[in-house]
Amino acid sequence: MNIVLLGAPGAGKGTQAKRLVEAYHIPHISTGDILRAAVASSTPLGLEAKKYMDAGELVPDEVVIGMMKERLAEPDATKGFILDGFPRTTAQAVALDEALVQLNTKIDVALSIDVDSEVIVERLSSRRTCEACGRITTASEGEICSVCGGKLVQRADDNEATVRNRLSVYANQTAPLIDYYKGQRILVPIDGDRPVNEVWTDVKAALA
Ligand code: AMP
Repeated sequence: MNIVLLGAPGAGKGTQAKRLVEAYHIPHISTGDILRAAVASSTPLGLEAKKYMDAGELVPDEVVIGMMKERLAEPDATKGFILDGFPRTTAQAVALDEALVQLNTKIDVALSIDVDSEVIVERLSSRRTCEACGRITTASEGEICSVCGGKLVQRADDNEATVRNRLSVYANQTAPLIDYYKGQRILVPIDGDRPVNEVWTDVKAALA
């Protein structure tokens, strides 16, 4: 099963992706995670990407498309994959379709997790990630992960001004992909402004 997760930053794509990994045993491929790892280890890709990420802008298409072509050609992606945060522009979606033709496969379903922008701003301002286990939680948990004892940190781009810019980038550059996948008859809209378990029930139903 090849799945694309669409939805604004903070809509809950990463959370649903984790459940999909457990249920379907296919890799979760998040461009944001790959880029953050590149920034953390100061690779040439990371140094190039950082300035865009800090401003809440998109990393140029050619950089991200090249990176994802390599990732999708890795052996674990042959059994299926969950794309989270890619594609984000029409050029990326077209390049993805072309790359998948070369690999003799295609996207089976695009799930669009929809959440109102003001709810997103509130969610992201209080989002925290455990540095050690990667678990996503909220500021109300404090500074220490209740599961592994790691440090809970806020992503550099989760401050309100950058979040608002990321939302406007989403509306202008990524939301048109909803029509792109509607045109391919593989779009399933999901109401993401509900408890995680309820969203998950709809996600499972969409894939059944
Ligand atoms: P995310 O974790 O998906 O919210 O991504 C964090 C940041 O990484 C974004 O604000 C962009 O700067 C960059 N990024 C992630 N995915 C892409 C993509 N598909 N195209 C361009 N930039 C991306």
